[in-house]
Amino acid sequence: PFEKSKGQHILKNPMLVETIVHKSGIKPTDVVLEIGPGTGNLTKKLLEVAKSVVAVELDPRMVLELNRRFQGTPHSSRLKLIEGDVLKCELPYFDMCVANIPYQISSPLTFKLLAHRPAFRCAVIMFQREFAMRLVANPGDALYCRLSVNTQLLARVSHLLKVGRNNFRPPPKVDSSVVRIEPRRPLPPVSFKEWDGLVRLCFNRKNKTLGSIFRQKSVLSLLERNYKTLQALQATQKVQMEEDKVSSEDVTVLAEMIEELSMGDDDDEKEVEEEEEEEMEEDIDLVGEGGESCSFKEKVLRVLKQGDFAEKRAAKLTQVDFLYLLSLLNKAGIHLS
Ligand code: SAM
Repeated sequence: PFEKSKGQHILKNPMLVETIVHKSGIKPTDVVLEIGPGTGNLTKKLLEVAKSVVAVELDPRMVLELNRRFQGTPHSSRLKLIEGDVLKCELPYFDMCVANIPYQISSPLTFKLLAHRPAFRCAVIMFQREFAMRLVANPGDALYCRLSVNTQLLARVSHLLKVGRNNFRPPPKVDSSVVRIEPRRPLPPVSFKEWDGLVRLCFNRKNKTLGSIFRQKSVLSLLERNYKTLQALQATQKVQMEEDKVSSEDVTVLAEMIEELSMGDDDDEKEVEEEEEEEMEEDIDLVGEGGESCSFKEKVLRVLKQGDFAEKRAAKLTQVDFLYLLSLLNKAGIHLS
């Protein structure tokens, strides 16, 4: 009996397992990490091509069955089984990750892998179709979102294979896709907290112009607060500016933040609700709110104009656009965290 709560959908099509392993490009020297080996159909093929396989499985019944399946085979010495929750356990060294995962852990798992050090070479992972399409979405695609931008900051992602639900037993309610994820080396030199702050802000209403997003009173007052804090700090003590780099700590922060990004959440719906509020805010802005704030607002809008961003929308911005916008803001002393 398979447990739905553990996302147990076993791959039943041997040709498909073969194709996944073939497309992974595993070398005979590779240590492969498998997540959720289940009954071991994929594990068996991985053992045939890899140097060794480390497999993390939550369900003790599956671990028992796996042990039985591989005991006494020539492969058994090259298979290491870890019983536990992959999100909670410390991962060992691996070169590649190949897995048909339980879909409910897709986001936190992806970022746990991307935060792992030393970085692996490549991961080939089965995801729910929509999640996969979000991962690989490009600017202008309907599914382009925070998940796309944040993942693509840290890795190159590409769609490998569409997989229908009937390749699994029991079949899940949704179709799947296999995606390749290759961590970028080196990572772009950016503070991840700030990056996510910017991306969050822009994608909160991804079809609004950046000009209208940055004109919001709530956004301006947040930025101004950050700005003043930093200025005060710099005035009183010689603060060594934090080095602009993605640290592994930043990536862990990302993993936590991304967890709340639920698959079904619809950016567009939210936008409609917020529309009225925004009009009001702009009216209030016109009334004016004292010299300081007005000049800070001008400062922000000047930065947007400088990079020609005021009329642009998050839905169409590339990684490079976001990086450039962040660098312009930072240069003007404007920080998002
Ligand atoms: N790899 C097998 C296959 O392709 O036939 C089974 C894949 S099934 C979609 C997912 C597997 O992950 C199940 O065996 C389930 O028990 C296991 N699992 C679920 N949650 C897990 C977790 N947090 N950590 C590790 N394994 C987990």
